[in-house]
Order: sequence, then C-alpha cells, then structure tokens
Amino acid sequence: MPARTRNDTGGDDGDGVVIGLEIHVQLNKLHSKLFCSCGLDYHNAPPNTHTCPVCLGLPGSLPVLNKSAVQNAIKVAIALNCEILPQTQFYRKNYYYPDLPKGFQTTQYDYPISTDGYLTIEDDQGHGTRRVRINRVHMEEDPGRLVHEGSIDRSKFTLIDYNRAGVPLLEIVTEPDLRSPKEARRFLNKLRNLLEYLDVSDGDLDGALRVDANISLAGGARAEVKNISSYKGAERALSFEIVRQRNVLRRGETVVQETRHFDELRGVTVSLRTKETEHDYRYFPEPDLVPMMVTDWVPDIRKTLPELPDAQRARFLKVYGITENHATSLTIDPRLAQFFEDVASEIDPKTSASWIVDVLSGELNYRDLRVDAFKASDMIEILKLFLDGVITERGAVTIIRTILDEGGTPAEIVSKKELAKVEDDVVASAVDEVLAECGDAVADYRSGETKALNYLVGQVMKKTRGRVDPPDARMRLLEKL
Ligand code: ZN
Ligand code: MN
Repeated sequence: MPARTRNDTGGDDGDGVVIGLEIHVQLNKLHSKLFCSCGLDYHNAPPNTHTCPVCLGLPGSLPVLNKSAVQNAIKVAIALNCEILPQTQFYRKNYYYPDLPKGFQTTQYDYPISTDGYLTIEDDQGHGTRRVRINRVHMEEDPGRLVHEGSIDRSKFTLIDYNRAGVPLLEIVTEPDLRSPKEARRFLNKLRNLLEYLDVSDGDLDGALRVDANISLAGGARAEVKNISSYKGAERALSFEIVRQRNVLRRGETVVQETRHFDELRGVTVSLRTKETEHDYRYFPEPDLVPMMVTDWVPDIRKTLPELPDAQRARFLKVYGITENHATSLTIDPRLAQFFEDVASEIDPKTSASWIVDVLSGELNYRDLRVDAFKASDMIEILKLFLDGVITERGAVTIIRTILDEGGTPAEIVSKKELAKVEDDVVASAVDEVLAECGDAVADYRSGETKALNYLVGQVMKKTRGRVDPPDARMRLLEKL
C-alpha cells in the first residue's frame, strides 16, 4: 500500500472522515412562490414588498400548491435517479424563529416526493467514478431572510426580509457517503451542473444554493455545520471542522453533537446550539393541503428532460472525437456546450473544441463574462480566416480579445488592426533583412547555439508586426542559414 501524505487540510488520512450533505436549492426559475402568487423577482426589490397574507402566515389564509414547482421537483428527482413516491404529502415542522412568520415551516417528512437516488462523481484519484447515494429529495418553503448586523454570534440587531419566505425549495439529502472536503466540493459542482442543465435553478442568485454538512471522525459525534452559502465555503468549512474535531479527539475530549455556524469571513465554525432532535419539531401532516399522487406525471416529465451532462459528455467523445478534458470543460455549462455544437457544425470539431476551451473560455473568465457574450457565428468566421491562412494564430486571438473589449466584426477588426498575413515577398525580405542585421546571432547559430534561432524568429515577427506564422518564419530562416 502506498504511503499516505499526512496533511491537515482535511481528507481521509485514517481518521475515518464521514460527510453527509443537505443541500437546499431554490427553484427560482418559476413565476411564483410555493403556496401563493407572490413573484420570485424580488432580488432588486425593497425588503418585504413581495409578500401577501399567505406567505406572511396571517390568520385565515390558505396555501395553494404551485403545480410547476412540483413538476420541477420531479425533474430533479428523475435526474438524481430517485424513486417518485406514489403518495406524497406536506407536513408542518414547528419551531419558533423570526424568519418563520407562521411559526412552522411547510415541508415534507414521511412521504417525501422522492427517495433512494444517486449521483455519480469522479473519485479522489480521478480515474474512476463512484455513486453518492441520495437519501431523499423533498419539497419545502424557504423561510424569510435574517440579516445580522455584524457576525451572528455578536450581533447588535437583526433585520428581517420576508420576500424570500415561501420561495419553493428542494432539500436534497445525501447518505453519509463522502470521505473528504474535496469530494464534497466535487459532488456539489456536479449537482450544480445538473441543475443548470435542468434549467430549474439559477445558482448565481443570492441564496439559491445553501449547504448544511454533517461531519464526523471515527470515535466522535457528528457536528452539523449550517447554512454554508458557497461551494468553496463548503470545502473550507469541512476542512476546518476536520482539524477542529481531530484536535478535540487528540486531547482526549469528546466531540459533542451540535449545530455550528460557518463564519465565511473568518473561515471558522462556531457553536450555535446543541442540536434539536426530530421530535422537538412536532411534525404533523399539513391539514390545509391534500396528499398528492403524482406518479402519473412522471412519464411526460421524463420526456421533457434535456440531455444531461454525463450523457452529453459521452456523446461529444464519441461523435466529435475530442479529448476527455475538452469534453469535460464543454459540458460544464449547457450554453458552452451549445456554442461548441454550433461552431463544430462548420469547423473541424477538434479545432473548435481547442479554440473554445483553451482560448475563448480563458478570455471570458478573465473578463468575468459568460459565453453569451460571444457569437458562435463570429467564432466560425475567425476560425475560417485562420484555417484559410488569412490571419495568424496570434491574429485570431487578437480578434477574440477585440470583440470582447471593443465589439466589432472579425472582418472589420482584420482591416482596422491590419491583421491579414503579409505577402510572401514581404516575409522573404524581412528574413533577408534580419539575417543581414543580426550577424552575431547568425554566427551563434552556425556555431551550434540553436537557441539563437528563436531570437531570429522573434526579429522576423517584430519586422512583420506579428503577421507571419512563427513556424513559417522559422522554416524560411532555416532555408537560408
Ligand atoms: Zn405571498
Ligand atoms: Mn430544510
């Protein structure tokens, strides 16, 4: 067995790390909340403007279930290989907290909409896959949003915004199948990718995805870290917890079962309260909503599912013959995948993949832009100019950057920036001039100093202002040396 490197940044180095996740996903692409007609377009609205008697829990108001939310929940459940239960039902989870105007959260308990699924992720070594089992996916309403002045454990006052109260949520609960913070992050990335393809949740919106993590080490109780608001945060919080629990155990003390809060700024978890047990919530069936029988809907909903990332990746490998890395990068975002297919319909797929992943994506990331900022038709035009020998590789990159920074069409930019490759005789005379001017370098090369050639190529590039391909310049120089 290979020796293990011991590192304190988390990971299973023999402490028996066990991680389970509970992910809350907002179904925020719908028009309205889960039980009322208040809109979900509240992100730029003043606090408490998207509310009504139902989501404020006023006496006498009655919930009406949003059918589209149920359909989206079923979509996610199918994509996570879950079983849809023949009869499903809402419950009241009772607890008093100011973010919960009714005094209870309408959620699911016994008879959740779906159970027993899995999501496949790559293993830590990166050359295999393994299944992370999903215990259940259930529906519930989002509580309001509490805004603590300062940090949560030392806050002078708290503000409440009920715009978020009643937003449809899915709670996705995994089995404790994850073994390291890295693996947890990989799982979360994969899940987010899936939700993007299903077009049910915009993960960029504030609060769209929140993670609670259960984590324990062999010999200790588990701690629950609540409301981690980013995937990177999840990895950091878990790494911190592993070190904290390991140190507690090393001192011969016991890890207590408790709920902890992750302080994103300080990168630490702090104790909130000892964990309530389930019976504290006094769950009981919601008397204002009838049980649902939705298995009849499943076949039709299944038909509406798009091609999912794993299947698409496999198809890209098979149909286009591109590399595994390119296929993986292209299927991180359904829009990028579509962009690739548009370009590959006119340009050699391997060339398309390489320019999109290795060049365009980098330029987009650098500018914090999405692929929507670039037209597939422009990419096709640029690659045609390059493949026809009208512009150099460097010229093609210049056009991409110019479009992103200043706009314009490829043809306009070629003429404005004089990117068309220079004529053969111009290259030939540039080569002659360089050979005449750089006697030292020529002598170095002839005495076996092969690196001098690079210098000479650079001089030809400089004289032609980059409008010659370096291999072409190199070849012409070699002919004369
Ligand atoms: Zn409402
Ligand atoms: Mn929940």
